[in-house]
Amino acid sequence: MAAGDVELVVVGIAQDGGVPQAGCSCERCVSALNDPAKILYPVSCVIRGMDGSVHLVEATRSLPLQLGIASSSLGMGDSLIPDSVTLTHAHLGHIDGIGQFGKEAMGQRGVPLFASSSVIRVLDERRLSSPFRANETLPGASFSPTEGCGFELELVRVPHRDEYSDTHAIKVIGPNHSLLFLPDHDNWGQTLEMAGADSIREWLISMGVGFAMIDGTFWSDGELGGRDMAQVPHPTISESLELLGEKRDGDPEIIFIHLNHTNPALDESSNQAKYLSSLGWSIGKQGTTILL
Ligand SMILES: [Zn+2]
Ligand SMILES: [Zn+2]
Repeated sequence: MAAGDVELVVVGIAQDGGVPQAGCSCERCVSALNDPAKILYPVSCVIRGMDGSVHLVEATRSLPLQLGIASSSLGMGDSLIPDSVTLTHAHLGHIDGIGQFGKEAMGQRGVPLFASSSVIRVLDERRLSSPFRANETLPGASFSPTEGCGFELELVRVPHRDEYSDTHAIKVIGPNHSLLFLPDHDNWGQTLEMAGADSIREWLISMGVGFAMIDGTFWSDGELGGRDMAQVPHPTISESLELLGEKRDGDPEIIFIHLNHTNPALDESSNQAKYLSSLGWSIGKQGTTILL
């Protein structure tokens, strides 16, 4: 892509536990242990600004490898150090790479960090905030993560089991297109109510986004075997597809992310993945770029 573009690279599409998930002996996790090409990193994006600056959304434990994916997708050579970090919430998979900015690894100081005050408080309590210059960020107030990057970010409040911090989606406002990054929320009813919208379509169109990367943690209820799924609430992809139906003219591209290792749609040849794409939607892929 030309210099001066704003590009977003998808560097992870899995739920917080990744694939393989620790201690799991399911077929997908075992096959990822035996074939590195099948490893899926927790959800995260890297955005390159117009001025070549690089901005991280979510800091996962796979950060070194994910920065590698970003630099190769963007053709940027090897050493890529983020110029800013923005976080949606304080659940494990979204922040467990934040320590890598510190002395033991990258040794950074003063990296601009954007998150709600409650997320910043969690980082402070866990003594993870010293490499950063934290900016308490309010929902609805767009900001440039660095001067000259050529795009803006905006937090969008969403309901999620908020035991450590509140939770936000992130709107990325590029020069040509905007994108909504919504990895986690509890259910569409509450999210749409909070947004004052009657349908997913109405909400996304009202935000003017051309792309929406949305929570696709589970395909359907009952996916966790014996575990109580009420403890980990997410709208299932089945439900989202039922609410969305087929893609229509004027709809944004909807890309499901944050897939759990149990989600059958991770297998491209599954009936579930085929059904989803027959409706006109897609599953996120590590290493793909979106021109904003
Ligand atoms: Zn998550
Ligand atoms: Zn597994």
